[in-house]
Amino acid sequence: MYAELIVDIKSEALDRAYTYLVPEGMELAPGDKVSVPFGRQEKTAYVLSLSEETDYDAGKIREIRSKVEGAVSVKEQLLALAVWMSEEYGTTLNQCLKTVLPVKRTVRKNRRRVDPLLRYHGTEEIPKLNPEQEAALSELREGYRRCFSEEREERKEGEDPPSYLLFGVTGSGKTEVYLRILEEVIQSGRQAILLIPEISLTYQTVLRVSGRFQGRTAILHSRMSLGERYEQYLRCERGEVDILIGPRSAVFAPFSGLGLIIMDEEQEGAYKSETAPCYETREVAEKRAELSGCPILYGSATPSLTIYRAALSGRPRLLRLKKRAVPGSCLPKTEIVDLRRELSEGNRSVFSRRLRELMEEKLSLGEQIMLFMNRRGYSSFVSCRSCGEAIRCPHCDVSLTLHRDGRLRCHYCGYELPLMKSCPSCGSPYLAPFGTGTEKLESLCQKEFPGARLLRMDRDTTGRKGGYEEILERFRNREADILIGTQMIVKGHDFPGVTLVGVIAADLSLFSPDFRSQEKTFQLLTQAAGRAGRGENPGTVVIQSYQPEHYAIVLSMRQDYELFYEKELAFREMMGYPPCSRLLTIRLSSADESFLEAVSSQSFSRFESRARDAGAELIGPLNAPLYKLKDIFRKIIYIKHESHDIIIKLRKDFAKTVRSFDRRGLILLHYDLIQ
Ligand code: ADP
Ligand code: ZN
Ligand code: ZN
Repeated sequence: MYAELIVDIKSEALDRAYTYLVPEGMELAPGDKVSVPFGRQEKTAYVLSLSEETDYDAGKIREIRSKVEGAVSVKEQLLALAVWMSEEYGTTLNQCLKTVLPVKRTVRKNRRRVDPLLRYHGTEEIPKLNPEQEAALSELREGYRRCFSEEREERKEGEDPPSYLLFGVTGSGKTEVYLRILEEVIQSGRQAILLIPEISLTYQTVLRVSGRFQGRTAILHSRMSLGERYEQYLRCERGEVDILIGPRSAVFAPFSGLGLIIMDEEQEGAYKSETAPCYETREVAEKRAELSGCPILYGSATPSLTIYRAALSGRPRLLRLKKRAVPGSCLPKTEIVDLRRELSEGNRSVFSRRLRELMEEKLSLGEQIMLFMNRRGYSSFVSCRSCGEAIRCPHCDVSLTLHRDGRLRCHYCGYELPLMKSCPSCGSPYLAPFGTGTEKLESLCQKEFPGARLLRMDRDTTGRKGGYEEILERFRNREADILIGTQMIVKGHDFPGVTLVGVIAADLSLFSPDFRSQEKTFQLLTQAAGRAGRGENPGTVVIQSYQPEHYAIVLSMRQDYELFYEKELAFREMMGYPPCSRLLTIRLSSADESFLEAVSSQSFSRFESRARDAGAELIGPLNAPLYKLKDIFRKIIYIKHESHDIIIKLRKDFAKTVRSFDRRGLILLHYDLIQ
């Protein structure tokens, strides 16, 4: 048996691995620490992988001296995490190491400053917990204490650190529970990671945490430079802070005494990394907690099917908060408007009669409104009335979006051009914009509600630093009556002045080509509904839809998660989709279309029988939903199987098959595993 080792992770050359012989009888696994002869010295090394064979001259290979037992340092934990990720997500170790260990960069002196988010001084009172919150907190406390207890009887050998799912409706006081358990972690001298999906979605949570734990909190966010991020990691490493708040990369915080990981809004899509390694933060966080021996707490108002199913079978432990926390506030009234009927009765506006009526009422009372539209830009596409062609991006397989400045833009690659006078396909002058985006909604509001003060929040208005904070602050200070926006506005924010939430087109997300589109729609609408009536005034939510009877829409309005879960799980079971089975998407891409075509079909047919023998279901090769993206062509293959280990094995098999037809490695392989 041979082992590939990284010798001394303090050095810069992490990607250089050395092969050593494993002595008879020594049991090793990736991530283990060993002692080896290196030059004339004895050094510590870390096992990356094990194999039966080696290409090296067996006579020259040196032998591992011993296995080093005992506690591992944080660097070693992170290394073990990288090794695990490399195996799990099929990415090179080097890439995983770069993801896990922060890249060293320096920051110019004059840019060193405290993040404005951390300058906030908490002013709100600390509420007394209600009985539901108390019950959840005491269970968490007990688990936390048991986990780090020195007492033999309390801590059973080999017991995994506990894991919890705090499932509470929006506004039920989950954040308050986080704050209390964080307090305990800090008081006992350990550190915590608070994962959030995206800063702009959870701005207020960040303020509350940093306000409560002043000077002890560091923060990571996407607008920071690499150097600024590196500084935050250093602050964690040096023990200057106790809490790191941040999106998925915060899971790699180099805390040496990690006591707890909290993952807020566990179901959020932003937790999935879209670039290799394509990891799911939930899985990496679970692994990190295991390596650090600390508990993990997931929180959500609409847990993902995957985690809820796991919770129903006992791990994570389910903690429930069923009521809204603020005394007197209750769940909003919801109404569904059938857009087909509006149309047949002659109303072609984007505002249904009911929504318009309520908007006028709220505006006259001086109350605030949020309008949600899940598409930015002015019109979703422009097409020719003569030949029917939509104007498409020349580099991508999508239609271009018209913006108010009269330019057409590709939302995938950024390509843009001014709107032409005639159709590029047939020359006809009858080009017409279709569909509505947030920008158009804004101008329609201006026209229909002339006195109202408007704010818009989407990726186009929040591009510069601090853009979203400013918009949210202004809306909170009641400098506007209506906030229009994409999904950015429906999540997490707490605006006591909002008494009406309008969802302009609830079905938009139902039609996306993704088996999870119903789950996503349900989550989005439940969250949107959660925005109304957070203060004293009861709220109303109006959902406009072309499919008002769809269960994702009806059940989100009733806030009936359990029934939605049952129906959706039955659908997944029937289709063999996750969480009932595991789904691996392999994407093959290349700029050379015909080579891609040939390699993917040859590989597929050679691989097919082997995969079927292993009991896997195989679909493909298909054109990816975005077949052409930035001038690169993309094919996909789906593999479904219940067993995680078989899926991983088939992934490796398939990669080998592809390389046997593509020896020069011209085809890029990309994996996405959904469990
Ligand atoms: P969630 O995170 O579940 O959406 P939050 O923790 O943000 O809920 O709580 C919603 C609101 O209720 C916040 O304004 C918070 O200060 C308040 N709150 C939380 N717990 C209590 C409590 N026990 N009593 C009164 N108000 C509370
Ligand atoms: Zn035309
Ligand atoms: Zn494009």
